[in-house]
Amino acid sequence: MKQVTYKGLTFVPYLEREKIQDRIKVLGAQITEDCKGKNPLFICVLNGAFAFASDLFREVDLPGAEITFIRLKSYEGTSSTGVVKEVIGLTEDITDRTVIIIEDIVDTGNTIHRLVGDLKKKNPADIRIATLLFKPESLQAPVKPDYVGFEIPTDFIIGYGLDLDGLARNLPDIWVLSPDHDN
Ligand code: IMP
Ligand code: MG
Repeated sequence: MKQVTYKGLTFVPYLEREKIQDRIKVLGAQITEDCKGKNPLFICVLNGAFAFASDLFREVDLPGAEITFIRLKSYEGTSSTGVVKEVIGLTEDITDRTVIIIEDIVDTGNTIHRLVGDLKKKNPADIRIATLLFKPESLQAPVKPDYVGFEIPTDFIIGYGLDLDGLARNLPDIWVLSPDHDN
């Protein structure tokens, strides 16, 4: 059985690159169709979404499409809610624009919920969410992604941008923590 090991944890194949690329073509075509006549601004949430954003954006066939990149800076213990995330790097004016957030994965949904709330204050025409992966069983926040690559169970995965403590983002395929790991 093929496997990779990071930090003593073993991962096995989950989604092969061809399957990822095939799905991204479908999502790109959907977004192209849905946004005809618009000039959407894609907002890639770094670091994890860099690979997906790069591939998805090139499948979008709209002359007015633009892309930008943001990070969410975490501050821990500064409020009763625990982790506070501030958007950094957004210099574009999004007033009256269709915004499409590109995320690698929606897990609890807390990150994206917070981001959508912050972006709404800037009066965009519309905010949509594109995520390569979605773990519906983990969802805690009231968010509903508009474009989903794959719905997956609550497994821990790496590769294609997704990391384990910063590692494994460069793997071209997606791998899942081995079910028979003894950690
Ligand atoms: P959320 O706020 O719980 O939706 O968390 C989203 C963030 O958690 C993602 O942007 C990832 O950075 C990280 N994350 C969630 N699940 C995984 C996973 O299976 N592998 C790697 N990172 C993950
Ligand atoms: Mg992320």
